[in-house]
Amino acid sequence: MAADGNRCVRLRAYPSGVPVASDFEAGDAPMPEAGDGQLLVRNVYLSLDPFLRGVISGRQIYADRVTPGDIMPGNTVAQVVTSRHGDYTAGDYVQVSGGWQAYAAVDAGTARKLDPASAPLSTAVGMLGMPGLTAYAGLLYTAEPEAGDTVVVSAAAGPVGSTVGQIARIKGCRVVGIAGSDRKCRYVVDELGFDDCINYKTQDLKSALAEACPDRVNVYFDNVGGTTLEAVLANLAIGARVTLCGLISQYNADTPPPGPNLGPVIGARAILKGFVVYDHYHRWVEFLDVRGGWLRDGQLRYREDRSAGLDSAPDAFSRLMRGENFGKVLVEVGPETV
Ligand code: NDP
Repeated sequence: MAADGNRCVRLRAYPSGVPVASDFEAGDAPMPEAGDGQLLVRNVYLSLDPFLRGVISGRQIYADRVTPGDIMPGNTVAQVVTSRHGDYTAGDYVQVSGGWQAYAAVDAGTARKLDPASAPLSTAVGMLGMPGLTAYAGLLYTAEPEAGDTVVVSAAAGPVGSTVGQIARIKGCRVVGIAGSDRKCRYVVDELGFDDCINYKTQDLKSALAEACPDRVNVYFDNVGGTTLEAVLANLAIGARVTLCGLISQYNADTPPPGPNLGPVIGARAILKGFVVYDHYHRWVEFLDVRGGWLRDGQLRYREDRSAGLDSAPDAFSRLMRGENFGKVLVEVGPETV
């Protein structure tokens, strides 16, 4: 049975840096009503996820920015109080975007029905919810780990990181976590079965990684970005796969820190892949055949930046390195024919 009124938490002011409690305000609100095709639900568990920081700052790609006065959004496990949709009845448990409030009216089409007998309800927003799916799909379908690979994961004790590490163990990988306290490190090693864990706050990450990953890193599942990402990139094995999942080290920044900002890579699901031309030397014949043809029939044009005499080389090189060349830099050391 619904209570008379609702209770909710609104954003009071945009946080500056790390959010503090006074950026939010709890208060009473009118009881929502379920319209056609909607459910009135009683929230049971509210999930607090890092993406909410992006919703507040307007950097989350799948949600409108919350403005001061708005009820904070959030995923919830909830129980149906009133159903105005044929697929649900009062008493059903659902996973919905119920927000920071006691009751919510939600479109039934956005709800996921839960079976309370199959798993603890709270897991629907954790291990068996969005974070769990992130870990599962991000690891298996983006990084494609193979048995024997060394897999490193940051924010290792969190819902995404801890699941990534455990799935990687199941797949026969050696798993090294990165976490922000000895307690978290002990947890992932002693209780979750990670092979090792580095406390990035007390250890020199680059050298600790080199020690913990003697064969270097085949898969890095990045949840944090920033200097942690930089340190792992310095320890990659040939052919490594890096899954850019989250950038939590930057979520509280008012402006993105200097350096490549990899946020758009996540949004675009882009794949960054290393390339070394020497791996393609077996293609010389094919290349000369195809490109030579394009050159001969005028489809390819080129420009040269020539200087005369070997003595011009230092100046030509210097111009090249200053960006003053225009075309392929060549030094005419001698005539083509004598
Ligand atoms: P977590 O509980 O792991 O996130 C909180 C943890 O992040 C903290 O306990 C802390 O762990 C770490 N952290 C916080 N601040 C910093 C910082 N400044 N520098 C480095 N680490 C920090 O949450 P989740 O498991 O839910 O999410 C993990 C990541 O996955 C997040 O970045 C999230 O945005 C991302 N994500 C991405 C999705 C996608 O579709 N791409 C979907 C879901 C989540 P520690 O003490 O170890 O530093």
